Amino acid sequence: HPRVALPADIFGDRRNSTGSDLSSPPVLKAMQVAIEASRVIGFTAGDKAWPGRPVLNPADRRDQVGLVHEAPPEAVPQTLARAEAIAPDWAARPADARADILERAADLFEARRDTFVPLAIREAGKTMANAIGELREAVDFLRYYAAQARALPGTPLGPVVCISPWNFPLAIFTGQVAAALAAGNTVIAKPAEQTPLIAAEAVRLLHEAGIPPDVLQLLPGDGASIGGGLVADPRCQGVVFTGSTEVARLLQRSLSTRGDVPLIAETGGQNAMIVDSSALAEQVVADVLASAFDSAGQRCSALRVLCLQEEVAPHILEMLEGAMRELVIGDPSRIETDLGPVIDVEAEANLRGHLARHPARLTLPLSADAAQGSFVPPSLIEIGSVAELGREVFGPVLHVLRFDRERLGELVQALNATGYGLTLGVHSRIDETIDFVVERAHVGNAYVNRNIIGAVVGAQPFGGEGLSGTGPKAGGPLYLRRLMRAGPVPCLE
Ligand code: GLU
Repeated sequence: HPRVALPADIFGDRRNSTGSDLSSPPVLKAMQVAIEASRVIGFTAGDKAWPGRPVLNPADRRDQVGLVHEAPPEAVPQTLARAEAIAPDWAARPADARADILERAADLFEARRDTFVPLAIREAGKTMANAIGELREAVDFLRYYAAQARALPGTPLGPVVCISPWNFPLAIFTGQVAAALAAGNTVIAKPAEQTPLIAAEAVRLLHEAGIPPDVLQLLPGDGASIGGGLVADPRCQGVVFTGSTEVARLLQRSLSTRGDVPLIAETGGQNAMIVDSSALAEQVVADVLASAFDSAGQRCSALRVLCLQEEVAPHILEMLEGAMRELVIGDPSRIETDLGPVIDVEAEANLRGHLARHPARLTLPLSADAAQGSFVPPSLIEIGSVAELGREVFGPVLHVLRFDRERLGELVQALNATGYGLTLGVHSRIDETIDFVVERAHVGNAYVNRNIIGAVVGAQPFGGEGLSGTGPKAGGPLYLRRLMRAGPVPCLE
C-alpha cells in the first residue's frame, strides 16, 4: 500500500542489527553447539544470600536452566537508597558518555550470542528464530536510545523502576533499561518471575560495558511485593512497565497520590485482522500463521481475532486449517520447530480452560513429549460477535469471526469498543477499504497486507491506545522524553 510510509529513523545513520542467518549451515551448527554447551552452565540471578528457586525450561521441566535468588521485601528500601545515592553522579555524566557505554554494551551483546540465544530458548521457550530476533531487538534498543540520548537535551528523573515481561525477556528488558539509563536515570530492574536468568546476563554485560553497579541494579522477585514495593516507595521517580492491563492499573493507582511520577505502560490487546474478499488468500494465510502462532501467540501484538468477509470465509478457513496442520509444535531448540511451549503451567492451565469452555473448530494434536512441558495446541475458535471475545487470551488460540461487508463500519466500531487498541491488520486490494479501516480504528500499530507482529526499532515505533498502554511508543522518537524532565530554562532578563 504505497500511501503508508514508514517514518525514517530521525537519528542519523544508525543501522539496526543484522542478527544471525539460520539458513547458513555454519551459523546453524554454531547455534546448536551453543545450545548444548549452555546445558552445563549453572546460570544464576540475584544475590546468593537470598533464597534460591530453580528456573525450569518450559518445554521440558526436567531441564533446570539455573537458579534465581529472589529478593526479600527488605531489599527494596536498600536498593532504592543506593539508586538514589548515586543518581547525581550518573546524571552529571555527559549524555555522550552514557551513550558510549550503551553502544559498547550493544557490541558486547552481539558478541555474546552464544549465551543469549540458548537462554532465550531454554528459559523462555523461544524458537531459534525468535531467540535470534530477541537478541537483535535488544541490540537495536541499546543503539537507538544511545543515539537519542546524544540528540535530546533534558534532565534525568532519578531512580526509575523497570518491570519487564517474560515474553520478550531480553528485548523488552533491555529496551526499558537502556532508555531509562540513556536519559540519565538510575535503574532498578525487576524482571518477570519466569525469566530472571537472561535478565541477569544482560545486566552483567551492561556492567561490563561501564554502567556502575549501583546505577543499574537487578531485583528479581515477586511482582506484588518487589515490583509493587519499589513503585510504592517515594524515592521511585519513574516507572516503565510491560505486562497485563490489570497490573498497569494497580501501578497507576499506586502512583496516583504522587502526581508527577511518569508511568510508561505497554499492555495487552484484542488485535484483529480484517480480510475482505479482494485479499490474496495465500498471503492472508501466511500472515495469519505468523501473526497468531509465532511465539506460540505470546506477543502483545499477536492476532486474537481474524475477521473474514463472509463470502471468502469458507475458502480461507479451509486453506488456513490445512496450513495449521503443517505446523511443527515441540522442542524449540530444534530448527524445524514452528511453535514452542507457553511460558508455564499456569499459562497452560488458563489456555486449556479457555479451550474447554469454547469448543474449537480445529485443535492440533500434540506429541507425547509435550507432556514434559507446557504445550497448548494451536486452535481455532469461531465466534459470532466481537463481544464474545471477553478477556485477552495470551497464547496460540485464534478466534474467527465472519462479517458482512455492508457492516464493516460496525465491525470497526465493535473492535474499538473493546477498549484495547494495540495492533490491527487489514488485508485488501481496495485502497478505499484500507483507508476506511485504518482511519477509524483506534490502534497504535496498523499493518496493511502483511503480518501484524515484529515492530522494528526506529522504523515502526510500537505501542497502543486505551487499555493497551499509555505510550509513548517503544523504539520511537518520543520514548526517552517521558523519562526526562524538560529542565530549567535560563531566563537572563
Ligand atoms: N514488539 C513486539 C511486536 O511487535 C510485541 C511486544 C510485546 O509483546 O509486548 O511483536
